[in-house]
Amino acid sequence: MTTTQQTIAKGNRFVVAVDGPAGAGKGAVCRAAASQCQLAYLETGALYRALGLLTLQEGLNDPETLATQAAQMPFSYRNMGDGIFRAFLDTDDVTDALRNETVGQAASRIAAMPAVRSALLAFQRQYGAGKNLILDGRDVGTVVWPDADLKIYLTASLEERANRRLRELEIAGKNTSFSEIYDAMAERDQRDAGRADAPLKPAPDAILLDTTELTLTQSINQVVQLIKNSLKKADFECTESTHGLL
Ligand code: C5P
Repeated sequence: MTTTQQTIAKGNRFVVAVDGPAGAGKGAVCRAAASQCQLAYLETGALYRALGLLTLQEGLNDPETLATQAAQMPFSYRNMGDGIFRAFLDTDDVTDALRNETVGQAASRIAAMPAVRSALLAFQRQYGAGKNLILDGRDVGTVVWPDADLKIYLTASLEERANRRLRELEIAGKNTSFSEIYDAMAERDQRDAGRADAPLKPAPDAILLDTTELTLTQSINQVVQLIKNSLKKADFECTESTHGLL
């Protein structure tokens, strides 16, 4: 590490904000980029999903109660090494439970409540404070980190995103149909993009990356290249280490 690199790693944060609709591949791309570029990673959707899970488990609906729960939620997002990140509520590993589409729908419903968003915003900023960070979500480039060094809007056609999610669920042994996933995703896209508070949209200074025709590896390579170009301006480099992710 050069002196400049040390200075940036210690003091000047480098933040990459990645937004986009459900199933665009943000998680897989960000985990790989975090690993190659030695950035901390926060999947902000996991926070909304964790609160969505609590909502389903405890039958909560009132925005103020939910905001109080959000502020006290014993959520942690842990880097287990080798590009693996797990989400915990207290000591329970809830990573797999959070992937359920019912939980995604609950997350999207509570995400439209301004009181909930404001409670979770505090968590996100606190988590990222002082870190070289990549984070993904719906509003991370527009609201959570408007001064991010690099903003990317990752998207793909609804059909392709639904197909990817279907393959993912099939591999996990879950029985569902393309039309079920397609309809649920369309509904979630509409709710996320249509809400008044922090709607899903590209930041004006975001780089748009449509991955409809790209493989996952190609998407990762393009994002890592964007990060490398941006880091070069900051005189700080990604390593070639992939931690077995590609
Ligand atoms: O990204 P993921 O699909 O896991 O997010 C689940 C839901 O959480 C989204 O559909 C969205 O409603 C909400 N969300 C949000 N803002 C974020 C991240 C997620 O509103 N930054």
